[in-house]
Formats: sequence, C-alpha cells, structure tokens
Amino acid sequence: MDFRVLGCHGGESPKHQCPAFMLDGRICLDAGSITNMLSLKEQQKVEAVVVSHAHLDHVRDLAMLADTRTQQGGPPLVIASTPGTIAVLKKHFFNDKLWPDFSKIPGEKATVIYQNLKPEVPTDVCGYQVRLVPVHHTVEAAAIFVSDGTSTVAYSGDTGPTDRLWEVLAKEPHVRALLMEVAFPNEQDKLARDSRHHTPKSLELELKKLGVKQRDIPVLLFHIKPVFQKDTERQLSKIRARNNTILNIGDQYIL
Ligand SMILES: [Zn+2]
Ligand SMILES: [Zn+2]
Repeated sequence: MDFRVLGCHGGESPKHQCPAFMLDGRICLDAGSITNMLSLKEQQKVEAVVVSHAHLDHVRDLAMLADTRTQQGGPPLVIASTPGTIAVLKKHFFNDKLWPDFSKIPGEKATVIYQNLKPEVPTDVCGYQVRLVPVHHTVEAAAIFVSDGTSTVAYSGDTGPTDRLWEVLAKEPHVRALLMEVAFPNEQDKLARDSRHHTPKSLELELKKLGVKQRDIPVLLFHIKPVFQKDTERQLSKIRARNNTILNIGDQYIL
C-alpha cells in the first residue's frame, strides 16, 4: 500500500496540519487536512474517508471535500465510521445548518454516502477490508485497521490507554505499521489523562503491551500538539523502543 501523510499534528499552523493519512490515493484515514493538501484532481480520486471519531480536528475537511465533489461529479464520497460517529456527523455537521446535507445534494443523486461499520467486524470499504476497534477517548472513537489483502495498516485514532487495540493487533498477521497517537509532554499528564490522549510516558507503558511478535512493527507517531512539540519530541527520543518514528507532513511509505 502506498501510504502518505497529509497531516499529523494535534493543531494547526502553516507548519502543522491536523490528522489525515492517505492510502493508495484512494482512501483517507480521517479528514483533518485533505483539501488543503491535495489538488482538485487528487481530491476527486478519494473514494472514501474512514473516520476514527467526530472531533473537528479529524473531520473538518469533509466539509470542502464534499462541497467540491458536488461540482466535480463522479462517484459519491463514502464516509465510513461507527454508527455513533456517523450519527454525530449527520446531526451536528452535515445538518443543513452548519453545512449542507450532501447526502441529498444535488437533487436525487447523493454526493456523500454514509457507511456504518459495525465495530470489530471486518467490512469492505471500496475494496479494502476495514475493521474498527473501539478505543478510549472523550467521545466514541475507534482505531482503524485497513487491509488490501496483503498489507494491513493499524491507526490508533485518538486514544488514551486501552487494551483492545493491542489484543487485536496481536492477532493481525500482516500489520506493516502502527500509527500511534501522542499529544502532550509528560508535564501535561493530567491534561492528557483528562482528554484521553498520550504523553511519551504513557505511550511507553502502552507500547509494552505489544506482543513479542509485534515488537518489530514500525510505530509511526502523530498528533503532537504544536505548542509542546519540542518538549514532546525530546521526551519521545528517550523512549527505548526500536521502531518509533515521528511522522512529518508529506512522509510517504510503501507498506
Ligand atoms: Zn479527539
Ligand atoms: Zn485529535
């Protein structure tokens, strides 16, 4: 799978973009920064966005992606997530108040199609097998496992300490990378715990849950808060784990 980082931070500035990751130019994991990073042609090729949870830093670019799609035509954009997250998007985002309901525009033809994914059940999304695994955040949130039949990418979404992600990871045979969130430096431990995010310290404990067979999986870190970037990166460099990499905008891997 071709894996490309569109945005990987827990905030925004000209140098920082909210989380969004693209697979094969066709599927995005979250929509924190899609329309500000992709050309119109590239946007039109996005077939589906799998959403980890409904927080704005993960869904905001669904707004302009859907709007532009109405003018571009072509196949509808699939927005896939848990039933709870889809319900929030329908009620609070694409609700004809904050933003139009693109599942009814234009006319009879939908620009957006919602795909409810039952947690834990592997389901086909535009030719990829997607499995959502509930994690611990301040709202309903899921980790996302995406497989093309050969490779699997695991994406934590936003989460504090959790067990289920690691249990599922231990049984997935072809995981090529784990995208793992970390948001705050160790000094902000209370804030991290209250907002269900990780610090380098809590991440280090969490990574100990990796099974022996999973120890070599590359761990790609994202969601660092820009204000705390230096301190968090310094603390992350001290974690004694072999395969940790802090992601940057534009990073690209074949997984
Ligand atoms: Zn969140
Ligand atoms: Zn977030």
